[in-house]
Amino acid sequence: MNNPIVDTRAPIVRSRRITGDVCIITLDCPEIASNAKPGNFVNVKVNDTSQPLLRRPFSIHDTDGRHLDIMVKAVGCGTSIFCNAAEGTEVMVLGPLGNCFDRSGTVFDTAVLVSGGIGTAPMRFLEKQLSSQGKRVVNLAGGRTKEDLLSINLSDCRHATDDGSEGFRGTVVELLSRELPALKTEGALKVFACGPTPMLKALALFCRENCLPCELSLESVMGCGIGICYGCSVEVLNPDGSTGTVLLCREGPVIDAALLAV
Ligand SMILES: Cc1cc2nc3c(=O)[nH]c(=O)nc-3n(C[C@H](O)[C@H](O)[C@H](O)COP(=O)(O)OP(=O)(O)OC[C@H]3O[C@@H](n4cnc5c(N)ncnc54)[C@H](O)[C@@H]3O)c2cc1C
Repeated sequence: MNNPIVDTRAPIVRSRRITGDVCIITLDCPEIASNAKPGNFVNVKVNDTSQPLLRRPFSIHDTDGRHLDIMVKAVGCGTSIFCNAAEGTEVMVLGPLGNCFDRSGTVFDTAVLVSGGIGTAPMRFLEKQLSSQGKRVVNLAGGRTKEDLLSINLSDCRHATDDGSEGFRGTVVELLSRELPALKTEGALKVFACGPTPMLKALALFCRENCLPCELSLESVMGCGIGICYGCSVEVLNPDGSTGTVLLCREGPVIDAALLAV
């Protein structure tokens, strides 16, 4: 958990639609931006009414230390309101929440950032941090079609689409499998990932089989975001092979791939 967690009112200073249903929303939010780390998320009350009642969680896509960029895919009531909010609208923002990527101290030379769909959202901030630490960063981004690829802010990005409309035809995990021999010539690898749960399970299995260290950012339906409501409990594997649970908002959203039950 990062401290301090701040609940603040932040104006939308910019909102731009990057695909039919995805926007990048920039909030002027220095209290949170100045403490944020890649993998953290914020819990946003998208309007001042009781509909929707609960805040909605969003990864931090990017920050300059003052502003927060949030990449939002409109999938329902809250995300549609947020995407359609006019510049100048103020929203309540709680954060930075959750843990962050790359806390384990694993030594690596090249980071392979594997993402699917809106799971690409946290990768821009992570890529910036890893590059500033002198790591080589390679992005593998997947989507069902080329319209679902959200890699506009990423460098050195290879694409996979289910229908072959852009890049490799197949899943992003199959793309990693194809690229792995060449990537292995770049020194020690570490995989960082975010995306739909089936993709993350396939990736966790692949990384186990290929002895690759891997961290995953998971998603679940979430209520409070601070460990009170227990709405985001997910099943994980214990080291002895038994199963346990973690609260994704407090002990996640980033977990070691070895903990994911596949
Ligand atoms: C840690 C974390 C980080 C996230 N980061 C981002 C992000 O950067 N960008 C982004 O667009 N979305 C992100 N999400 C997902 C986002 O929070 C949900 O899409 C959003 O809460 C849905 O709200 P809604 O009111 O639009 O949808 P609702 O009307 O509540 O539901 C619409 C559909 O979305 C599903 N849904 C609801 N909540 C979630 C959820 N938390 N995860 C997955 N599906 C959900 C519902 O089951 C339903 O099928 C993140 C979720 C978590 C937990």
